[in-house]
Amino acid sequence: NKQIILKEYVKGSPKESDMILKTSSIKLKVPEDNSNDAVLVKNLYLSCDPYMRNRMSKSEGSYVDSFTPGSAITGYGVGRVVDSSNPNFKNGDLIWGITGWEEYTLLKSTQGLFKIHYTDDVPLSYYTGLLGMAGTTAYSGFYEVCSPKKGETVFISAASGAVGQLVGQFAKLLGCYVVGSAGSKEKVDLLKNKFGFDDAFNYKEEPDLDAALKRYFPDGIDIYFENVGGKMLDAVLLNMRVHGRIAVCGMISQYNLEEPEGVRNLFCLISKRVRMQGFLVPDYYHLYPKFLEMVLPLIKQGKITYVEDIAEGLESAPAALVGLFSGRNVGKQVVVVARE
Ligand code: NDP
Repeated sequence: NKQIILKEYVKGSPKESDMILKTSSIKLKVPEDNSNDAVLVKNLYLSCDPYMRNRMSKSEGSYVDSFTPGSAITGYGVGRVVDSSNPNFKNGDLIWGITGWEEYTLLKSTQGLFKIHYTDDVPLSYYTGLLGMAGTTAYSGFYEVCSPKKGETVFISAASGAVGQLVGQFAKLLGCYVVGSAGSKEKVDLLKNKFGFDDAFNYKEEPDLDAALKRYFPDGIDIYFENVGGKMLDAVLLNMRVHGRIAVCGMISQYNLEEPEGVRNLFCLISKRVRMQGFLVPDYYHLYPKFLEMVLPLIKQGKITYVEDIAEGLESAPAALVGLFSGRNVGKQVVVVARE
């Protein structure tokens, strides 16, 4: 059983060499002494997610547990059940949920696993992103936290990523004016030409983010979908409209820093009566069936599109994960362990 192991807790920016590939043996059966709720899963697709950086550090009041150095990394993935002691999960069933970064994983509980009712008109890998955790994040963050209305102005950072590309498309479908920021010309082109954003800019080429936002939003921003934090948040705060909303989804620019950067412009929340609200997707998984009901027809009608960045083979997983922090991924970062 090939596995990706975390060597030691990580400080600063994660590196490929923080993880190693190891081979160990595994019995391809659920052990007799396991409860009646265990499944053995063959992992097919793994999801690389920014929150995994937090799990690479020693947990200090974090909302997620740290990884265990010396053990396989865990994260969201798509797999096929190859043995089960739970009658609700049969051999051959497809699932998504938290699994191991390895070829086969024994999951001692099926709690938190979602069964996939697969139809071959949607790629199975979408359940690592669009039809999985990232999609539910975009859906709950936009519709539940942002309280969006037709005609409002929406700004999204890290807009071409797993979550951002969807938030932008949801906002366009509702009839909002949507602008995104991203870190390369290729990503800016995707936002404008593939995802249908009204406009987009490369934040790395803007010496003055406040001036850039004033160019794209001369009358201000009603909704900010926050993925990056830091200097971008400070610039956005200066440009929010009265009664605007900020959904704080993530702050990836802060995850590798020993000391988070300060935010200077929070006073704008008062004068503009802005609501700024953080959220975590696990609180919204009860909405997953409703989300699927909405999004599957939209995908089939071609009204929602999705870009994935596919890395082949478990051995490519460390580089793929680390790449999130330099913006190497274009779209949702997926690792293929096996195709069937
Ligand atoms: P992405 O697919 O967007 O990948 C991460 C992207 O972040 C990179 O491609 C890069 O894009 C950008 N980035 C990296 N470093 C920086 C930096 N220093 N400053 C600005 N941008 C940077 O990831 P996701 O869509 O999966 O996640 C987006 C955000 O949502 C993250 O902050 C994540 O933690 C958060 N999240 C929160 C959840 C929740 O429940 N609250 C659930 C899921 C995600 P670029 O080239 O544009 O810089």
